[in-house]
Amino acid sequence: MTSMHTQPPQRTPAPLHAPAPQRTPAPPNTSAPQPVRPARVGPAHRVAVRSGRAPSHPFNLCFHGIGTPLRELEPGEEEFWVGVDQFEQMLAMIRHHPFINITIDDSNASDFTYALPALLDHGLTATFFVVAERIDSPGALSSTALQELASSGMRIGTHGLAHRPWRDLRDHGLEAEMRAARIIAEIAGAPVREAACPFGSYDRRVLGALRRHGLRRVYTVDRGRAPYGAWLQPRYTVCKGDTPADLEQLAYPQHNWHLTARTLVKRLR
Ligand SMILES: [Zn+2]
Repeated sequence: MTSMHTQPPQRTPAPLHAPAPQRTPAPPNTSAPQPVRPARVGPAHRVAVRSGRAPSHPFNLCFHGIGTPLRELEPGEEEFWVGVDQFEQMLAMIRHHPFINITIDDSNASDFTYALPALLDHGLTATFFVVAERIDSPGALSSTALQELASSGMRIGTHGLAHRPWRDLRDHGLEAEMRAARIIAEIAGAPVREAACPFGSYDRRVLGALRRHGLRRVYTVDRGRAPYGAWLQPRYTVCKGDTPADLEQLAYPQHNWHLTARTLVKRLR
């Protein structure tokens, strides 16, 4: 598998607001065949602005990889990789909607290569959910890239130890996954206070473990909405076929109450 870290690596002191890393030229994007419509501020936004209605709930987006994967993907994962241009155009839309939160899972190398410079270009931040055992493995974030994300103002969260569905684990396995937060924090040189459940897998026992380990916010992939500050936050998983306009429409749902109800059922079972 991959190397584990029990000691924080030597860090070269990074300035608080480090400059954006040099961008490497984007490789040909063979993984996004659909043309991407240009970002625009759509009708949903204009209606909301006209009516003076500020959304009372954040809209959380869950991204995965960007561009061409540099590691072997898990079954079905390719659908969740977006193109470099597609990601840029989504950020150009998101910057007009401060209530849209960006999260990026799985600690792919593209977090540093593409996401960080694009976020900085647009004046945006994101939470990066890191898989501890993937750090420094091929196609994944390196230790130094992880430190650079943190020192550039990005938040670092835990996506567990080995990218396993937490609901399926016995107690000792679940505890090992919970301890990944400390490992990631040591390597990143930054606090880790938020978690994202791998595969959106959770139940009451998993949530109890996350609370015991002091995680202050937990993200799922249940879609729907939760109020600002809620401990359990649903997310919409961005897919290869999504356009900026699609996301903008989803960000202003007057009709997503049934998705919130589904989250309630999962946390009680
Ligand atoms: Zn994941």
